[in-house]
Amino acid sequence: MLMSQPPESARVKKPDSNKQSSSSEGLIQSTDVERNRLLAEMAEQSTDMISRHTPGDWRFIYASPAVTHLLGYSVEEIVGMSAYELYHPDDVEDFKRRSPSVSYERGLYTHNYRFRCKDGHYTWLESTSRSIRDAATDELKEILVVSRDVSQRINAEQANRRLARVLEHSSDLVAFVTPDHRVSQLNEAARDALGLEVSGHDPLQLKMLFTPESYSLLQQQAFPEAHDQGSWRGEADMYSRIHQQAIPVMLEVLAHRTLDNRLEYFSTVARDMTAIKQAEAKQQQYQQEIDHAARLITMGEMATGLAHEINQPLTAVVNYVRGIQRRMQTDRESALDDIEQPLERIGNTALRAGEIVRRMMDFTRKSDPKWELLELNSLVNDLIGFCGSAAKRHNVVLENGLPENISAVYADRIQLEQILLNLLLNGIEACHRAEHRTPLKVWLEASTDKTDQVIISVLDQGPGLPVADPEQLFEQFFTTKADGLGMGLAISRTLIERHGGQLQAENRADGGAKFSFILSST
Ligand code: ADP
Repeated sequence: MLMSQPPESARVKKPDSNKQSSSSEGLIQSTDVERNRLLAEMAEQSTDMISRHTPGDWRFIYASPAVTHLLGYSVEEIVGMSAYELYHPDDVEDFKRRSPSVSYERGLYTHNYRFRCKDGHYTWLESTSRSIRDAATDELKEILVVSRDVSQRINAEQANRRLARVLEHSSDLVAFVTPDHRVSQLNEAARDALGLEVSGHDPLQLKMLFTPESYSLLQQQAFPEAHDQGSWRGEADMYSRIHQQAIPVMLEVLAHRTLDNRLEYFSTVARDMTAIKQAEAKQQQYQQEIDHAARLITMGEMATGLAHEINQPLTAVVNYVRGIQRRMQTDRESALDDIEQPLERIGNTALRAGEIVRRMMDFTRKSDPKWELLELNSLVNDLIGFCGSAAKRHNVVLENGLPENISAVYADRIQLEQILLNLLLNGIEACHRAEHRTPLKVWLEASTDKTDQVIISVLDQGPGLPVADPEQLFEQFFTTKADGLGMGLAISRTLIERHGGQLQAENRADGGAKFSFILSST
């Protein structure tokens, strides 16, 4: 049903095949009865609705049975109704704007519009209309219309348009890429960020969108994988011509195929990660500073012990030198003969002092955590050696109780050393507080659980925990020591949490404390 007089342009759209044209001529020239018979026959077989209308008010003179399927009306109900009653109000306006003076020629006119069904809802119809005139007087007699339901197509087109609008205005950088890797379309965000335009007939080279490294990643990995598996996801760097700098992005490459599985095009959807990367870098720097401060605090706590540690070899060096000097003053000749051994000792002792200083510097140096598989026994022996003199001063014996074949753990060496050092020194100090004559013991144990995680414990024979709730010990600035900072356990716990573990304290059944944590061995 055409709802308005077709515009002038409709006249151009004449039937293009002679056959059609001549059969139409035949139809027009038939008598009314003959025409109705032909129409009825065609209409019976057609799922399209065929209708005839009076000019002007578009009253239904005839409607084929398909009207019931299409609009819900019976033929009897709709005949006599004016099509104008059933147009969507928005479309009526549109029709009225067309000039009624446009006269009907023999051209065809096709139009999409909404029509109200019997149950009240609107359906999209596509109608092709043509005028039928009296052969003798050329008077417009009626309009013949073929209509079909195009709701599905129109709805799909609308959905596509909506999707296209979302894509066009998305903050992600979207590009469509031809199978031979040329860019055929960019959305607004991509055009703005990259400073590129795609002109209709001239696709861009894909390499203009990316840094050379990312472009080769795309060529070698992303597109082949998307081609084979449908999609690829990863990080890449796009290149902004406006700002002349790389844009870090999270990139998704999708392969789009036709129904017969032929690759039609790729799309790339990139999320700008600049802000997130900057925040990450800031966080990392901040974390590094905290780590550094934490190590300085630990060092501060160890300062007395270390001073002693370095003082010892220095005193030894001075003693050796004085010994040599004395010998030189009394018996220069024989002193020269015997000088070799003391010189060697001086050298070794100075090296030992240097080693202690190097270790301190390593420990306090600002550095990125370096994750590696660490062999626990040698690390623990090293630490026990390092704390040896502190232990001796407090009349404490240190022991490595780790099984020989304990699995290696995945951790940052300096952080793990810092944690264990804190726990060992705390244990030594606790034993010192417990009045004792015979030396007390601080030792390490370790075992592997079913999931291949390693549980490491530092145990002591001290007085045990000073509070009923062990969690209190991990609060910042909690200390029971006159010169304590109360930061050691708090820091150790955060470091262990960063390794994916948990530091816990408990009293041992036969006295003393036990601090344990879990590390992964993979
Ligand atoms: P600080 O050693 O400066 O006091 P920590 O955070 O290392 O700081 O320890 C907090 C408190 O936990 C200590 O003051 C002490 O009371 C208690 N503590 C730590 N280790 C032990 C231990 N092995 N035995 C008993 N108490 C301990």
